[in-house]
Amino acid sequence: MTSLKTDESTAINREVIGIHNGQAAMDGDGVKLTRIIGTQTLNMLDPFLLLDAFESDQAQDYIGGFPSHPHRGFETVTYLLAGQMRHKDSAGNEGLIEPGGVQWMTAGKGIVHSEMPEQIDGLLMGFQLWVNLPAKDKFSEPAYQEFPVDKIALEKRATGTQIRVISGQTDQGTLGPVINEAVKPSYFDVSLKAGDKFEQTLAKTDNTFIYLIEGQISLGNKATRIEAGNLAILSQGEKVTINTQVDSRFLLVSGQPIGEPVARGGPFVMNTKAEVMQAFADFQANRF
Ligand code: FE
Repeated sequence: MTSLKTDESTAINREVIGIHNGQAAMDGDGVKLTRIIGTQTLNMLDPFLLLDAFESDQAQDYIGGFPSHPHRGFETVTYLLAGQMRHKDSAGNEGLIEPGGVQWMTAGKGIVHSEMPEQIDGLLMGFQLWVNLPAKDKFSEPAYQEFPVDKIALEKRATGTQIRVISGQTDQGTLGPVINEAVKPSYFDVSLKAGDKFEQTLAKTDNTFIYLIEGQISLGNKATRIEAGNLAILSQGEKVTINTQVDSRFLLVSGQPIGEPVARGGPFVMNTKAEVMQAFADFQANRF
């Protein structure tokens, strides 16, 4: 990867251009979650189609899980912070996602899978992000990039700040394991120590969001305040600058917009309505 670093004096700082709080939702077999992207107020942030956060220590909020269901035309990224989820698909693949682990699944031309909690009590917490595929990749073979916590790059700074890098590269050179040539995503989980500063260079035309898991941060030259549970959308630019006075934790997610028409139908995301109808027909005829 070539360096994206630019001259400090000319770098355009990204600023907050919108803050969203998500809304309570239910999906799968009665799983309670907060939908943050994929709502009426924030339909998508190209190439990101959906972001769900789930967090509960009440079994009835998650025990139903996500029984067998199809996907076509995009990628699902599950990042688990607490608890365990078992994944099984129609091609016979099976795996257990454990705390700190990530599963980056390319549904491509189609997959039928289940995602079920592997626990009957205790805390289940994590995120699912949907990343769109460009038209040329929507019928690619299904594929997995799955990494347990010890295979995800961890950058430890002298200040105590820690960055888990799932995809992309930090300014200090830590490179995440997930590869996606279509949107070249960055997906960081940053634990920023009180009083520390986080700076990150990104491709100028990326769409980028910050989701604050805990604490409170201020972003950009305008020092816009972001609270826990806020998703902040950033303006285009080269550099993200974040300060904090309290220990804080956030996701930074960034990627190249695809810029194609998006037709959504439940678990299928295609370019046209006709392609979505075809996906339903193919699924019903067991052609996945
Ligand atoms: Fe799924």
